[in-house]
Amino acid sequence: MSENQRIGIITDEDFAKLNVPPFPRTSFFSHEHPIRIKSILDYFDKVKLFDDSRIVLKKPIQINESIIKLAHSQYHINTIKRLSKFGFGIIGDEVFITQDTFFLAKKALGGSIQAIQCVLNGELHQSIALIRPPGHHALREKASGLCIFNNIANSIFYLRKIMNFDKRIAIIDIDDHFGDGIAQYFYEDPSVLYFSIHEFDFEDGDLGFIDELGEGEGLGSNINFPVPRGITDDDFLDFVEFLEPILIQFRPELIIIATGFDMYYDDKVGNCLLTSSSYYNFTRWILTLAEKLCQGKVAFILEGGYSPIGLPFCIHSMIRALLNEDYERPEFEYLDFTSETKKDEIAKIKEVLLKELAKYWSF
Ligand SMILES: [Zn+2]
Repeated sequence: MSENQRIGIITDEDFAKLNVPPFPRTSFFSHEHPIRIKSILDYFDKVKLFDDSRIVLKKPIQINESIIKLAHSQYHINTIKRLSKFGFGIIGDEVFITQDTFFLAKKALGGSIQAIQCVLNGELHQSIALIRPPGHHALREKASGLCIFNNIANSIFYLRKIMNFDKRIAIIDIDDHFGDGIAQYFYEDPSVLYFSIHEFDFEDGDLGFIDELGEGEGLGSNINFPVPRGITDDDFLDFVEFLEPILIQFRPELIIIATGFDMYYDDKVGNCLLTSSSYYNFTRWILTLAEKLCQGKVAFILEGGYSPIGLPFCIHSMIRALLNEDYERPEFEYLDFTSETKKDEIAKIKEVLLKELAKYWSF
């Protein structure tokens, strides 16, 4: 397998240049910056990643507005176009628009579709879409939480409507935040299983709680694993214990990872303590399982993750896992968070969640 292996990196240098947030270093907005992608691409250059014949670089596909319309209202599309033409805009509390936003968000969607369809048609074994802006909070009618178009949901509608792919799809969302956009699109759809681990506000209440399990025919196929802030490498993969049997029963023919890196310890938006080792171990696990369930068909679509220092290493660790190579985390990740473990709290949450899930899945 490894000789003919083809791992796709789907990206474009525009992601490393355009859509610069309007208020650098003064707000939440400033972290969704081109440097996220630039830091990764520069690191790839440094380690000569593309000299490896197993790594295939691909550009996003060109899409037109009719593709965006599969997942979004005309009003929302028009709003993004209009404000981009105007050159500036803030939507709600958490979305900024620049003159590049419509252009780049459309390209991000093209990158997500490319990554997923190339895995599905066998051109690539696995793929990683390095795109921005992210997508998992975006809703049919509006942008939300730095997300313009819902790259993953929209790509699935593309598979359904344009590629006539009607098989089961599992989405695993490892971003620090609950992907409320994706969850809402597929809440009543039994053909798409959505699992999300996310930092949860247990004091003030939050979206993405354990009892949001889907509705109607979709009951049991929306699975939330809310965790306290500050989880560590020792805690992160606790969900494997129940998610693996669920995936085996669900039998997906494609797995999409909503790949956020904002649980990384140096992230400025998330509050967790993961190192790049967690992303390596996660990828090893999902690849092994995917090889059993769906010929290894896994597409990783970038969501959040805002540490330009950590991002290149987290992504590179995943590539090494996909290549079945060892990984040793970089020396600067020397911090030892073992004593910070949230095992006890997580065990309590898991106990309640498993009781709910046992209504739909066997363990
Ligand atoms: Zn996030």
